Amino acid sequence: MALTLYVDTQRWRDQLDAACRAYPRIVPVAKGNGYGFGLERLAAEAARLGTDTLAVGTYDELVAVATTFPRDLLVLTPFRSYDTAPDAAHAGPTTATGSDLQDTIGDRLIRTVSRPDDLAELGDALDRPRIVVELLTSMRRHGVGVDDLPTVAKRLDDVRCEGWALHLPLPVAGAHKPEVEAWINRLREAGLPVQRMWVSHLTPGELDELGDAYPEIEFRPRVGTKLWLADRGSYEARAHVLDVHPVRRGDRFGYRQRRVPGDGHLVVVSGGTTHGIAVEAPSHVGDFRTRVKTLALGGLEAAGRALSPYTIAGKRRWFAEPPHMQVSVLFLPSSVRPPKIGDELPVNVGMIFTRFDRIVFR
Ligand SMILES: *Cc1c(COP(=O)(O)O)cnc(C)c1O
Repeated sequence: MALTLYVDTQRWRDQLDAACRAYPRIVPVAKGNGYGFGLERLAAEAARLGTDTLAVGTYDELVAVATTFPRDLLVLTPFRSYDTAPDAAHAGPTTATGSDLQDTIGDRLIRTVSRPDDLAELGDALDRPRIVVELLTSMRRHGVGVDDLPTVAKRLDDVRCEGWALHLPLPVAGAHKPEVEAWINRLREAGLPVQRMWVSHLTPGELDELGDAYPEIEFRPRVGTKLWLADRGSYEARAHVLDVHPVRRGDRFGYRQRRVPGDGHLVVVSGGTTHGIAVEAPSHVGDFRTRVKTLALGGLEAAGRALSPYTIAGKRRWFAEPPHMQVSVLFLPSSVRPPKIGDELPVNVGMIFTRFDRIVFR
């Protein structure tokens, strides 16, 4: 009765080890749903890998990793005073466990700061907190601009600056080296020390080149997808078949009493909207034409059917109706032998938005 993620632990770990070799001084990123594996598990793996720092997305995520991962914790989302009062629950949410969490984290926390005001606030409120200053990149998400650098420089004595952070677009969008170099030059022109840069989405080749060009700078690649999800063959989602019903063309079924499109079977499977099972094909599906076709259907209401992520007899099958909260219903034409109740079907889910009922490390 479950949507289960099966992980071939040895193979997955081999890939994690390989990623650590490809990205020297890697900072694993554990955020959101833990890339499908869960934040606690990622914290444990990062501890096993021996990295000196683990990055999380938000202050709230610290609670899931702080005990398991014993070393430094970098929060990627820039600090804002409305998140947390810097003088009180500055380690995270003001929950009952807030102060325990603070004790657990102690001096291991490194905050990202992306505005001079936030830097000033932290510097005033805390005793030289550890921070990294995020610089605005072509992403245009967060970061101080070049005009802010003089203000930043004035406030750096009140904090322990652990380096500069650059969040860059995906490599497909163009080369990163010029953008990184431009920032190194701007920082140096502003008289700021550039000892360490925390970077996202640089390729191992780009990191190599930068390391050669700037041996005096320590580059710290923050990596999520290319670490945890790099070997798709090392994990697999499967869903139980909960029920199978023979149907004839035109038979009605479901809440809306739709008609089935032909002779065959309705197959009720575990996994629904609660799990993140959606009408659209997940974007990482390699088969672009399938994806376009699915989207072109304009959802189920327009075309009466959409391609599901469930595979039976080697092929993705059509939803009979939109997924429900816990289950989905597929239509299987009579030419295909139906699965048995209790069988587990492969499901092609997007790992970063799927909530599994169970995760089984084998
Ligand atoms: C999520 C995130 C990353 C990791 O992204 P992936 O594409 O999963 O490797 C790196 N840096 C920042 C700032 C992020 O928010």
